[in-house]
Amino acid sequence: MWAIILHGGAKEIEPDEADANRSGCLRALSAGRAVLEGGGSALDAVEAAIRVLEDDPAFNCGYGSVLNAAGEVEMCAAIMEGRTFNVGGVSIVQGVRHPVSVARAMLEEETTLIAGPGARAFAAEKGLELCDPAALRASKDEKKRGRTGTHDTVGCVALDRHGLLVAGTSTGGLDDTPVGRVGDSALPGCGFYADNDLGAVAFSGDGERIARKILAARVMHALGPQGPDEALGLAIRHVAQIGGEAGGIALTPDGRFGWMHNSREFAVAYASSDQPEPRVYLRKAEERE
Ligand code: ASP
Repeated sequence: MWAIILHGGAKEIEPDEADANRSGCLRALSAGRAVLEGGGSALDAVEAAIRVLEDDPAFNCGYGSVLNAAGEVEMCAAIMEGRTFNVGGVSIVQGVRHPVSVARAMLEEETTLIAGPGARAFAAEKGLELCDPAALRASKDEKKRGRTGTHDTVGCVALDRHGLLVAGTSTGGLDDTPVGRVGDSALPGCGFYADNDLGAVAFSGDGERIARKILAARVMHALGPQGPDEALGLAIRHVAQIGGEAGGIALTPDGRFGWMHNSREFAVAYASSDQPEPRVYLRKAEERE
C-alpha cells in the first residue's frame, strides 16, 4: 500500500484564506501521490509535495517565507527516512529555491545538518537551484491570499509500497526572530522523525517550545500502544503545558493517518491506496463532521 499526509501549518486561517490553503495542500498532495502511485519512493514523494508548497506564497517556506528581524528570508528544511535513519537538514539557509531538495541531497552525506552559507555552498556544489535571497520575498498581496497566522511551516509524511516511511519539513521560521535563529523544523526528534517500525511524524508550531518538549520523540515513544491521533494528542498536551501551540501529522507502518492541533486551524490533506479520494481539512473538527 501507499499513503501520504501533509500540512500547511498550525495557524489561523481567515475565511478569505481558506481556498488558498485548501487548494495549495491538494496540489502538493497530488504531486506526492503521483510518485507513490507510480511505485516511486516515499523520499521522492515527500520532496515532490514539499517543493509544490515551497513555490506557493500561501505557505511559510521557500518563496513567500516570513522575514527575520533584519527583513531577510532564512529557511530550514529536513527530511528523514525510517529504514536507515538517515537525516538530511539545512538551517538558516538563504538564496536556494527549494530547501527541501538541499535537505534531500544532505541525506546522502555523513553530516546531518548544515547551516548558513555552508548550506548554500553545498546546494551549489550539488547543482541545485540558487536564487537571489531577496527573490524569495513574496508581495504583501500574494501573502495575504494565503495566510495571516504565525505558523505556516509545512510538513509531509509518506509511506511507499516498499514500506519506507519518510518525514519532511520546510519553513521560513518565525516572523521577526533574530538573525541566525533556528527552530524545531530541522531538528530530528523535535519537528520530525521517521522509524519504519513505529511511524513517522512532522510538526508545525512554536519551534522553541516544540524543541524544549522534544515533540516528535514523544510521538515515537507513544506510537504502538497508542494510535497516531492519540500519540499526537499526548505530545500536543505537553507543548500546551508550557504555553506552546502546535499541529502534527503522523503515519503508522500500516498506513494509518493521524493529525492533531491546538492551533485554531491546521490545513491537512491526505490520501492512500485504501482511500484514494483526497481529503482536505482546515480543522480536525471538520473531519469528524
Ligand atoms: N516551527 C516553525 C519554527 O519554529 C514555525 C512554524 O511552524 O511555522 O521555525
